Amino acid sequence: MKTINITIDGPAGAGKSSIAREVASELGFVYVDTGAFYRAIALFALDYPTKRDFLRKLESECHLEMKYFGGMQCIFLNGENVTDKIRTQEISMKASEVSALPEVREFLLEMQKEIAHAYNVIMDGRDIGTAVLPDADLKIYLTASAEERASRRYLELEDKPDMPSYEQILEEIKQRDDNDMHRAISPLKRTNDAVLIDSTKMGFHEVCEEIMDLIETKFDLD
Ligand code: C5P
Repeated sequence: MKTINITIDGPAGAGKSSIAREVASELGFVYVDTGAFYRAIALFALDYPTKRDFLRKLESECHLEMKYFGGMQCIFLNGENVTDKIRTQEISMKASEVSALPEVREFLLEMQKEIAHAYNVIMDGRDIGTAVLPDADLKIYLTASAEERASRRYLELEDKPDMPSYEQILEEIKQRDDNDMHRAISPLKRTNDAVLIDSTKMGFHEVCEEIMDLIETKFDLD
């Protein structure tokens, strides 16, 4: 039976993950956070001094697995649950760097397609509607201004030890946008068939509702 595939692409900090998770749970779909795959590969890459060494070991020694615990996606790298370890500023920047390498994108492409082939999914990332699932049933491009994304991130981190300043967060977001939008392979871009949602002035529930409305209009899921 053909599965239903919904994609949410957009820049860092637009709220894709939390919104995709919520909508997937309402629909009983599998939520796939593809950024976690790139982050786990970034963590793997930290063990290698040069790009050449890292790429040489990628195929043979980087084993990724996704498991679900009560709807939460956990990512395992060579048997270790690295779900929390990959949520650092260092890994964010490293993921943005390794994701520009064609070998890394190729390594993950088939895995992402297989998941979408096996399950009804809401898959979020940067190139899901353009490169991974170009024939998806519904494509959404979720964005917000860089300043709004930075202040949401700042509020999330508030009171954490060693928290960066708002200016540092904004700078990092702009740097990642630039890397993701201007890389040669599978850059982040909105295609004509993707529905644009600009959440700069919208709350979490408002965005979820708008996406649920789009889904209800498009599919008969009863
Ligand atoms: O979504 P998240 O911020 O966790 O992704 C981390 C990095 O992984 C992004 O900045 C981007 O460079 C890369 N990525 C990508 N393609 C995807 C998902 C993430 O290039 N589909």
